[in-house]
Amino acid sequence: MSAGTLRVTSLFLSIDGEVNACGQGVPSFFIRLAGCNLRCWQAFGGCDTVYSFGPGTPMTVEELLARVEASGCPKVTLTGGEPLLQRGPALASLLRGLRERGVFVSMETNGSIAPEFDGRECVGSLVYDYKCPSTGCTEAMLPFASLFRALGPSDYIKFVLRDLADYAFARERVIEARGLRGDAPGPVPAFSPMLPVAGNGLAPAALVERVLADRLFEVRINVQLHKYIWPDADREV
Ligand code: SF4
Repeated sequence: MSAGTLRVTSLFLSIDGEVNACGQGVPSFFIRLAGCNLRCWQAFGGCDTVYSFGPGTPMTVEELLARVEASGCPKVTLTGGEPLLQRGPALASLLRGLRERGVFVSMETNGSIAPEFDGRECVGSLVYDYKCPSTGCTEAMLPFASLFRALGPSDYIKFVLRDLADYAFARERVIEARGLRGDAPGPVPAFSPMLPVAGNGLAPAALVERVLADRLFEVRINVQLHKYIWPDADREV
């Protein structure tokens, strides 16, 4: 009997250009699930993965596990869209199947869905993309304090920064986290500069200078490697 189906936008072998507990640049097999509950950056033409908003292609858990096995890759990145929209028995079966095969899983999720879901223990690194003001989606985010307390030291809270208002928002969250951390290390905050395009975006050097000047020593800079390697499009093969 099938363990269920998931709706998939694309499967491809690439490198993980984002922060995760295996490190940036690690080869990874991507499972991009279909559908998203947010619409970020509507004021700026929308996000860079609008193609994930559609219904996708239904695939069984067995088919997905076979594709991962065929790739031979020991790491999977589960992303979207918003992968946790499909939380439930099929996603849990996929996560447990990957763990049984010794595959490390990182999951990219958008900050609006709580990290308590079936199969969560099989995710080695949860990467929460906590939406800053420029996205227009900040109000959909979980309360920062509850999210921070629910995550561990292998997890990340990532802030994609388009401008200095986004930086100020993220800096406030980092300072808030200092009061929440207590004796536990907590998740790692990561700042991701949007690459400057047509005068928009935040230059990585300018961001680093601000982080150092503000003594945000717990922050990791997440320059999205795949956007440097493939500036015209993510590698999806
Ligand atoms: S959560 Fe991600 S996929 Fe969804 S609209 Fe925002 S940037 Fe796009």
